[in-house]
Amino acid sequence: MKFIPLFESMKTVRPSDKARLVVFAADERFIAVDSQGSPFLKPFSAADEAENLVIGSLDGIKCRCVSLEEGSALPEGLRWEEFRDIYRDLDEEDQFPVGRARVLLEWRRTHRFCGACGAEIELSETEHAGRCPGCGELRYPVIAPAVIIRITRGDEILLAHNARFPEGFFSHVAGFVDAGENLEQAVRREVMEEVQLEVENIRYFGSQSWPMPHSLMLAFTAECPDHDAQPVPDGEEIDEARWFTRETMPEIPNTGSIAGRMLADYLQNR
Ligand SMILES: [Zn+2]
Repeated sequence: MKFIPLFESMKTVRPSDKARLVVFAADERFIAVDSQGSPFLKPFSAADEAENLVIGSLDGIKCRCVSLEEGSALPEGLRWEEFRDIYRDLDEEDQFPVGRARVLLEWRRTHRFCGACGAEIELSETEHAGRCPGCGELRYPVIAPAVIIRITRGDEILLAHNARFPEGFFSHVAGFVDAGENLEQAVRREVMEEVQLEVENIRYFGSQSWPMPHSLMLAFTAECPDHDAQPVPDGEEIDEARWFTRETMPEIPNTGSIAGRMLADYLQNR
């Protein structure tokens, strides 16, 4: 599907019958899908009446998003799914509008008041932003950059088991960019904090919006110059980290995520 992001006044209007809706519930943890598993729905009455925002044009049709109360009933043929599960399985083209919808709705829900003076934020008529009538500050949707790093050493690749991962599942080291850091500093700090390794030859690989709730994953490759260094997991976020080879790979992310795409690239190029 061809998606073009659009901005329109954030005033709620009743969507036309031809519109497409992306519908969430329960603080955007759930998303409604049709019987084919698609999240791009035809308007229905419960969703028409709630506050909705334009996100863009989908194959030439106006697409809006809306967030309903937890436990809201859906018309026959639609069902609720965990947003995370649906997002992961969408191709990149379809991730764009759905991720954009989630970031904007989450921002609307969590930034109704100015953090400086407490006045109620008024939505801009000209862009996805809010202006504070008290102090005049302009507030934009929050996007939190995070780095994810594929560390290799010759034919070996370093993978880590996060304490929140299922048993036996490994991925790259990752973390949020800290205040004042540039991306290379964030890469070096995260790798040192999580597995106590030095890395060099840091190269940009690609990026992926990761709207859970509002991250932007920036993926890098890096090399470990020390041929004897063993990773030391931080024991909190990371409880195990090891060097693997193509022949000894554990369970890893699929290619729906940038983590999986970096792994596929490693496996193809060795
Ligand atoms: Zn203010």
